[in-house]
Amino acid sequence: MTATITEERRVCEQCFESKPLSEFRCKKRGTSLRARECRTCHNETERLRQAEKRAKATDLAFAQFHAQLKRTRDEKRVAILVAVMVESFGGLHEFVAAWIGHIDQAMEKSPGSKKVLDFFQAITQMSDAAHKYHKPPDPAEMTTENLTFALRQQLRDLVRDEPELAVAAARELGWEVRPSVPTASD
Ligand SMILES: [Zn+2]
Repeated sequence: MTATITEERRVCEQCFESKPLSEFRCKKRGTSLRARECRTCHNETERLRQAEKRAKATDLAFAQFHAQLKRTRDEKRVAILVAVMVESFGGLHEFVAAWIGHIDQAMEKSPGSKKVLDFFQAITQMSDAAHKYHKPPDPAEMTTENLTFALRQQLRDLVRDEPELAVAAARELGWEVRPSVPTASD
């Protein structure tokens, strides 16, 4: 379809809307030659192009990271690699999302393949390293919700390790605590 040119309006070749000529970018500075698509369409195309470029860069970074992970046996180095990657992905959420995305893709293409297995092995590797080199989060940087969750988790761990604490605390409140009775199937 060709663009309809009137004196002051033009139809955009992408959205087919008639818009004032000023809505079409000059192709070259100092000439009257104008783009065939409107500014809105041009910006949208540009935005998509940039997003695609970013996605490609992220994929490449991910592939390089995974390759490095496969070569690394040292847990401390794994922990450092993970920290660097979380930082470069812009946060833990984004980092995890990248993993889920890649695993989903691999599972869809060929479930149970070596690639899928590799991904899960890498996760085990990262999780082992994380357990060993985990730094407790700074409470000042946590949201109330996260803090409550973390405190509950810590309390639960504490009680599991030292159940008599729970019994003593319950006694303070005037509650009676009985250890759970083994079921008939036990
Ligand atoms: Zn347009």
